[in-house]
Amino acid sequence: MKTLRSYVLGRWHEAASGFVPLVDPSTEAEIARVSSAGVDFGAVLDFARDHGGPALRGMSFGERGELLKAMSKALREHRDELLELSRINTGTTLADGSFDVDGASGTLAYYASLARGLGDRSALVDGDGVQLARTEAFWGQHVLVPRPGAAVLINAFNFPVWGFAEKAACALLAGMPVITKPATATAMVAARAVEIVVEAGFLPTGALQLVCGATGDLLDRLGSQDVLAFTGSADTARKLRDRESFLVANTRVNVEADSLNAAILGPDLAAGAAFDLFLQDVAREMTQKSGQKCTAVRRVLVPAGHADAVAEALVERLSGVITGNPTAESVTMGPLSTARQLADAESGVAELLDNARLVHGSGRRADGVGAAQGKGFFFAPALLRADDPRAAGAVHRREVFGPVATLLPYDGTAAEAAEIAALGGGTLVTSVYSDDSGWIGDFLSRGASSTGRVYIGSESSSSAAPGSGVAMPQTLHGGPGRAGGGEELGGLAGLRLYMQRVALQGSREMVEAVAGSEAG
Ligand code: NAP
Repeated sequence: MKTLRSYVLGRWHEAASGFVPLVDPSTEAEIARVSSAGVDFGAVLDFARDHGGPALRGMSFGERGELLKAMSKALREHRDELLELSRINTGTTLADGSFDVDGASGTLAYYASLARGLGDRSALVDGDGVQLARTEAFWGQHVLVPRPGAAVLINAFNFPVWGFAEKAACALLAGMPVITKPATATAMVAARAVEIVVEAGFLPTGALQLVCGATGDLLDRLGSQDVLAFTGSADTARKLRDRESFLVANTRVNVEADSLNAAILGPDLAAGAAFDLFLQDVAREMTQKSGQKCTAVRRVLVPAGHADAVAEALVERLSGVITGNPTAESVTMGPLSTARQLADAESGVAELLDNARLVHGSGRRADGVGAAQGKGFFFAPALLRADDPRAAGAVHRREVFGPVATLLPYDGTAAEAAEIAALGGGTLVTSVYSDDSGWIGDFLSRGASSTGRVYIGSESSSSAAPGSGVAMPQTLHGGPGRAGGGEELGGLAGLRLYMQRVALQGSREMVEAVAGSEAG
């Protein structure tokens, strides 16, 4: 059986004990084992700070961008292999795997192209300069400079390649060395992605290290110039964030966590392109990656008068989903990734049933097409309905991380839509479907602050809209409240986490000369 290794201190480290087995979620056959036993985390941090950091900071943005370009190319060249590993390790169909793998190479390529525009700079100018006195003899300008610590990137199980790449792209471009830790359950595909990049040989020593398995005392060792970028459940985030050492050192922590994303149908739509887009998006965002996306639709708000018709149309679409082993040609949705996710999805639906009823699906494990009876973590789509959304506590509280959503009829006003959406306590994305800009504007003024992104589905966007679940590197990924309060991506804004913002003050001539020579 394959033993996954960590890449630390410039070499591959294979543990001798403490293994956790990984299984193929379609067959439950063991495929690999993982352990980080024996890794010296103090040395790992020093290696990043002493070797990777100086090497990266010695490069311009343009040069670091070339590294990202090469990473993107290396991943693209191994696309088929990574997709196959994704199927074995996470249970994805080809399309679902490519969402992760192509998302990774695409995000790296995007940041590489941004870097080209920054050229020889080694610091970023942030905003416009401002006159601070009666004359230009005293002037202010913000700049962003790389932090001399290490960036520890902890990722969730559901995006083993994209999760690594989207964080690493920003950290490396900012000039920070990366220590990446994939979720143990899906570390096989993440570890191979890192191995591909390391083997290609273009990264400076210490710029990228990989920890497969537990992080030992790594987090306790982080200091004021280090960064922790975490993606995972709100529960884990709370535990990680609360550590004394972070409070003492003010270690920068970014959290991307749970989200009960809402899709909202406006009152003007009962047919037409935007209405079709809504149905198509909701069905896809429920079932893509078997619903294991932080941006998946969990709550579907529909004007009460349309609720029956929407339920019927969604059930028709969901009935076409074929759940099973992705090796079977007819299968359109794979299993959940782990036994733990399956148990969690089953108990989650049971909890939702306190406040909602099933319209479609069983909310329990099912046998999969092309899989042995009783084997595999298969879970067919489940649609629920709660006719009293304000009293549907669990629906607004419990993230069921599978192909599960709840239909919530509302009165059709933007006010009630915003009020109900906000019950989720903060989301990564809210999708709103309407051709009425006045209604959407009203919704935004009431409800936009509850989410990190508003995706507007209308007739005018229907030909190009990719679906609300796509986290595009050009725009912000993150959200308030239970979504973690973090911010990732969003073009150059994504680099801020890994850089120190400094206010330069002096004469305009001097500040511009310094910022200019430093920042171009
Ligand atoms: P999880 O159980 O919270 O684990 C997330 C990561 O934290 C894993 O790498 C895990 O490693 C690590 N971890 C757990 N305890 C740790 C500790 N004490 N010290 C250091 N690392 C620790 O979450 P998950 O089940 O992988 O992912 C599902 C959740 O992630 C869902 O709630 C989903 O909404 C959320 N998510 C959010 C986003 C977003 O962008 N907002 C994206 C994807 C997923 P091990 O696997 O080794 O325990």
